[in-house]
Amino acid sequence: MPPSTPAVKRKRGEGQWKLGHREPLNPNERTKKDDDGLNVRARIENVYSKRGFDSIDPADLRGRMRWWGLYTQRRPGIDGGRTAALEPEELDDSYFMLRVRLDGGALTTEQLRALGGISQTYARDTADVTDRQNIQYHWIDIVDMPAIWAKLEGLGMLTTEACGDTPRVVLGSPVAGVSADEVLDPTPAIDAIVDRYVGDPKFSNLPRKFKSAISWQQDVAHEINDVSFIGSVHPEHGPGFDVWVGGGLSTNPKIAQRLGAWVPLDEVPDVWAGIISVFRDYGYRRLRHRARIKFLVADWGAAEFRRVLEDEYLGRSLIDGPAPATPERPIDHVGVHRQVDGRNYVGVAPASGRVSGTTLVALADAVEKAGSGRVRLTAQQKIVVLDVADDRVDALVARLNTLGLQADPSPWRRATMACTGIEFCKLAIVETKERAIRLVEELEKRLSDVVPEHPISIHLNGCPNSCARTQVADIGLKGQIVTDTDGNQVEGFQVHLGGGLGLDSGFGRKLRGLKVTSAELGDYVDRVVRRFAAQREGDERFAQ
Ligand code: SF4
Repeated sequence: MPPSTPAVKRKRGEGQWKLGHREPLNPNERTKKDDDGLNVRARIENVYSKRGFDSIDPADLRGRMRWWGLYTQRRPGIDGGRTAALEPEELDDSYFMLRVRLDGGALTTEQLRALGGISQTYARDTADVTDRQNIQYHWIDIVDMPAIWAKLEGLGMLTTEACGDTPRVVLGSPVAGVSADEVLDPTPAIDAIVDRYVGDPKFSNLPRKFKSAISWQQDVAHEINDVSFIGSVHPEHGPGFDVWVGGGLSTNPKIAQRLGAWVPLDEVPDVWAGIISVFRDYGYRRLRHRARIKFLVADWGAAEFRRVLEDEYLGRSLIDGPAPATPERPIDHVGVHRQVDGRNYVGVAPASGRVSGTTLVALADAVEKAGSGRVRLTAQQKIVVLDVADDRVDALVARLNTLGLQADPSPWRRATMACTGIEFCKLAIVETKERAIRLVEELEKRLSDVVPEHPISIHLNGCPNSCARTQVADIGLKGQIVTDTDGNQVEGFQVHLGGGLGLDSGFGRKLRGLKVTSAELGDYVDRVVRRFAAQREGDERFAQ
């Protein structure tokens, strides 16, 4: 018997393939049924890149291009206040955002230099480090895609399924394999998943996107991924991974649930494939806004999800396992830290993940000068340089500082993130990146006398989609149009207070009246932080 779903939903059907609902029930499902998104690659190579933007089939343009990491970007000069009256296609620019997936965030300096060069040549020197360890370009012209793919893929980098209803980039610890705190390096599992399943038509038509995270340490926001494997020591079997499913943010945020299962490293790819198969077959396809795995897990519960996984997909029982211990503070890897081999890793904070092609090339040079060849991106929009000998650390830190990459940033720079926002994102209501950069500068001046024991995280999001994790920040900001004191409609934010991951895992409180204009954001944060500092009791944290 298929697992139960609430009676009223069962009657109407949720569009679950396994229950016989194969007929597309919304336009997105129709587009996917008409043609596999992976097939658009050949049309880009053979037609669109030769004939230009206007030759692109609309169903490819707003649908299948995503399977290769391409989204149309917002037409410049279209601001948030005017977009409500516009059709989505009126917002389209003839340029694209391009996302390069970097599973585990791992890069060599050769790859980093190539990423910078692509940005300089094809993307007007744009490059953002995203909170999913991707590099994101803007201003990409479709005619350049064959040349860009040749460069990327020649060095082992992919845009395959970087967007779309697919298995997206697999998050991994930026210090996997080098951290003294790691017991078991899960990199082989990440590599196996990418090798076996990324670009595999078996998983190229999911109900919606599918986000994965695999790390020994709790540095990948595992509570808000669709599936996560987190390091855990089993009392009999030793080190392995604890399985979480069904996390996600956006408009119906959910913290992932533990399956209570312990998986050894070499079985992680198979269990991952089983879980994504459950999602493909039982995921809800009728309503797009209910199509993430979090809704299925919430309806079934973790025990039922595990039963279906074991009975129908793995054909065996998983081993019960303990929960991993929760770390005492958020792990962002910023600063200089000792590696297990006696060398060091150096974590640096660009402002809100914004860098440039020129910066990436200069970073590659600086890393090689320091005797290293490896860099990692983090799930907090930061960059980590690995394998630095003691006598090279100071010079590297000084050099990176001149590039705007600080190893000893203020708490405000360290813990502020921003999504793409209205500069390029068609869904955005407000500007975020530049606002975040100016906010950090302002707070560094205004709050120089306040040094929080734990950095207070501030996440700016341009709309309710929560790409920069509104609900799990100490101060989460969701972009919307608000009314200022003079009655004008201006850019602003709904405030969520006291969210967090790890020790303080949970969603911030959204108070209906708690809205702030973008212009007065600095005043607001200053007030909240000072009030917290004045009223804090003992070792109370902001999220408590
Ligand atoms: Fe765009 Fe909204 Fe995501 Fe920001 S949160 S990148 S505005 S979709």
